[in-house]
Amino acid sequence: MLIYGKRKIRIKKYDDFHIQCENCSACKQRFSVYQAYYHLFFIPIYPASQKSIKTICLNCKDSFNEQKVLHYLAKTKTPFYLYTGLILFASLFISVIYSNINTQNKKQEYAENPKVNDVYLMNKKDEDDNSSYFFVKIKRISGDTVEVIHNAYEYSRFISKFDTADYFDKSERSLFLKSELKAYIHDRKITSIKRDYEKTSRFNVEK
Ligand SMILES: [Zn+2]
Repeated sequence: MLIYGKRKIRIKKYDDFHIQCENCSACKQRFSVYQAYYHLFFIPIYPASQKSIKTICLNCKDSFNEQKVLHYLAKTKTPFYLYTGLILFASLFISVIYSNINTQNKKQEYAENPKVNDVYLMNKKDEDDNSSYFFVKIKRISGDTVEVIHNAYEYSRFISKFDTADYFDKSERSLFLKSELKAYIHDRKITSIKRDYEKTSRFNVEK
């Protein structure tokens, strides 16, 4: 269930001891400024445009209309925390983009300097434009040539690690040129490159 909507809170109060109450003649006037905001699960997302102000005499509780309401209304700024949701969304958005750029850079860097045991997640498309995914692992690098072994399974959707029974097949070998790896990055045939994965990873399993 999604709980969202508009709420109103008091963002500021001013006590003014210079204005006399028309009802009881006391000089204890309180100005309360309210701001409406949109919330999601009671977290303020962003403020609604309008502010409102109420005045009350602290002595007799009479409310009244006074010139100073405009003054107090104008000097009250919308508090920062009412933008919490907006700020959270923005920072999440920025961090996703940043980490994406970072991953892209790393991929580029790995493909330009391949190392033995690097694992590449490759994708290919059939005639109907359906993607499938497979892994290759670098076994040997000599000069410009990179020798890889293939994994046993083929995947129909993106995954980041092996299925529990998958492994690298030592008999399934093929050769790439280093320049081809770079071209594959450019053509987006390489989805991701894993280096320094954990000792317990199934990427270590070869048969
Ligand atoms: Zn009063």
